[in-house]
Amino acid sequence: MVRKMGFYAVLAYVIYGLFFYWYLFHFADSSLPFEYQGTKADPATFLNGRELMLSEEYSKIRNLLFFLSTPFEWLFYFLILLFGLSKAFKSWAESSSKYKLLQTAIYLIWLSFFAFLATLPLSYISYTGSKTYNISTQTFASWMKEELIDFWINYGTLLIIVPVLYWLMKKSVKRWWLYAWILSIPFTLFMMFLQPVIIDPLYNDFYPLKNKELETKILTLAEKAQIPAEHVFEVNMSKETNSLNAYVSGIGSNARIVLWDTTLNKLSDDQILFIMAHEICHYVEKHIYIGIALYLLFSLIGLYLTYRIMSWVIARYGKELKIPDVKDIRSLPLFFMIISMLLFASSPFSNLISRYEEKRADRYAINMTQNPEAAITSFQELTRSGLSQVNPPLLVKIFRYSHPSMLERISMLEEYEVKQRNK
Ligand SMILES: [Zn+2]
Repeated sequence: MVRKMGFYAVLAYVIYGLFFYWYLFHFADSSLPFEYQGTKADPATFLNGRELMLSEEYSKIRNLLFFLSTPFEWLFYFLILLFGLSKAFKSWAESSSKYKLLQTAIYLIWLSFFAFLATLPLSYISYTGSKTYNISTQTFASWMKEELIDFWINYGTLLIIVPVLYWLMKKSVKRWWLYAWILSIPFTLFMMFLQPVIIDPLYNDFYPLKNKELETKILTLAEKAQIPAEHVFEVNMSKETNSLNAYVSGIGSNARIVLWDTTLNKLSDDQILFIMAHEICHYVEKHIYIGIALYLLFSLIGLYLTYRIMSWVIARYGKELKIPDVKDIRSLPLFFMIISMLLFASSPFSNLISRYEEKRADRYAINMTQNPEAAITSFQELTRSGLSQVNPPLLVKIFRYSHPSMLERISMLEEYEVKQRNK
């Protein structure tokens, strides 16, 4: 039975992978609809032949890796349970210490270590991919260092969450999901508050804007939106990547707008001001807080579903998966697997909300700067530097795109430009 279940799980994964290979490489049509050909959204008008070919190729590979990696996690956790590794981690932990908390810490280090090893090849492939296409400029050592920082941050977080979670499961078989959710609220807020000052600086250097002339222009714009100067930062990303980005992070007094130095180096001042105005919209419209509220709502539903699904799976397949009880730490891989599946299933919805906010930010930015030429060319440069797809296939858009496609973004700006001219 166990071997049969393992076989079918691997088979399902392979079929799923082949389906997406076929979908992305043979079926999906990412060519431009007729009415957009020759417009400023048409990549043929701003990319050269080589860039055009590379962006198609690279996007396909990246999309395939995206669709392969999440279900790979599910397969990993499933096999860990099925072949008794979770059980083994627990007995190794119990034989090395008699303290409950230390046992959990040892169990977690084994599980994290195996998960790290299992997912390393896929992350390595995506690292070498972006290196081949000249997106990433990161050395292997620096990439590995970030993988290790990820590992330890992840482990540290688990070390806080997991003992509390299993303690709650023991205290209340029927309500643990609700108590876990209630406790997750201050934890989430605290992590969001610390993120930009404690976690992000572990990866990169953050500092006030270096180019003082540009800084004056950016801060004038920020002032218009009543954002204090000390909330605008530059981050040193050029040693890792050629792509451009800017974002808003943190809450309360740690809320900030961050501009990648690549963005500042590669774009003209007017283009940067458009990007900055876009980020200002996220900041003033408090999209982070909306995001947190939605996240908390999703996680309440998600934890309840996890509770129901876990109880059902263990009642039905507990023997095969070697999980005697929900509150036994051996069920942790099942917990992760269900959470990851629910996150994946809800991603079309969260992406939809994000795309709506991004659209608002683009509108806000163009109304603020009123320079469609700079806005359009900044998006064209964004497309070129990230070799991104202007018109992604439908499933890619639904599951991956937290931003509208460049086709939609540039077309919107072009319409604005036409309207402005006719005024
Ligand atoms: Zn945005």
